[in-house]
Amino acid sequence: MGLFDKLKKGLKKTKDSIFSGIGSVLKSFTRIDEELMEELEEILITSDLGMPATEHIMGELRAKIKSEGLKDPADVTGALRQIMTEMMEDEHIALKTDTKPSVILVIGVNGVGKTTSIGKIAAMFTSQGKKVVVGAADTFRAAAVSQLEIWAERAGAAIVKRAEGSDPASVVFDTLSYAKANNCDIVICDTAGRLHNKKNLMDELEKMSRIIERECPGCDRENLLVIDATTGQNALIQAREFSKVTHLTGIVLTKLDGSAKGGIVCAVKLETGVPVKFVGVGEQIDDLMPFDPEMFAKALIEE
Ligand code: GDP
Ligand code: MG
Repeated sequence: MGLFDKLKKGLKKTKDSIFSGIGSVLKSFTRIDEELMEELEEILITSDLGMPATEHIMGELRAKIKSEGLKDPADVTGALRQIMTEMMEDEHIALKTDTKPSVILVIGVNGVGKTTSIGKIAAMFTSQGKKVVVGAADTFRAAAVSQLEIWAERAGAAIVKRAEGSDPASVVFDTLSYAKANNCDIVICDTAGRLHNKKNLMDELEKMSRIIERECPGCDRENLLVIDATTGQNALIQAREFSKVTHLTGIVLTKLDGSAKGGIVCAVKLETGVPVKFVGVGEQIDDLMPFDPEMFAKALIEE
């Protein structure tokens, strides 16, 4: 299956719930008028886009209709697609991993898909011939380490771990030492996702950050927050909260395949300023896609 078809399949639920609704509204009108705009707005609000994103889209749409003199409801499809693409685009949307090693820290609350996404990202790099090591810095549950081991093996990546309950920052340190000694291209560190104690989380992330800066000064770094699309507005809240306690460089939005709430992709960037860099569309190793706003908008809103 090509990337576009895969994305379309992953977005089926979202598309069926929100964007088919838009399609039928557009078909039921013969010209663009206030009533049409109100119906569109209602669909966006009741989807999981939330208020700020809905208002932004409607504002842009009104401006476009005026400036381009749109009259035909059929033209709204293309306009919406363009507006959404622009909302999701970012000049830093591609992972920056030019230095050797480059370090990716993966954070987020439990169950969102961190470990799974790390396995998938590792596989993406190993398939490009890069040498990858993953660090099991989620040391709170032994199960977390063994799950990461399974993924590392599938991906053909090395793993560095310590006993359950070890200091996560010391695992990061060990992983960086391993990467330097073994000439690795990419370091990816799993972390435990505890948001209930902000101070603690912030301290821990800062400690890891300091170790990375000390051990690999000037290296390319990504701090990726993983959020689960099925949780809709909750995922957005997590993105907002995490972006307050740490510097995020990107978001991984998982479980689009199991969710009708994929519309939050449009809201994330607007509300946090952080671009979505990957989307998860399934549980298999190749079910993670680098995020392409234009392709995404096209898969969501088709003619
Ligand atoms: P963590 O606690 O954040 O490390 O989350 P895990 O990586 O353990 O994932 C939790 C569950 O979500 C697992 O059952 C994964 O298979 C599942 N999962 C992760 N990403 C996706 C995805 O993109 N689609 C689907 N359907 N399931 C996913
Ligand atoms: Mg995990």
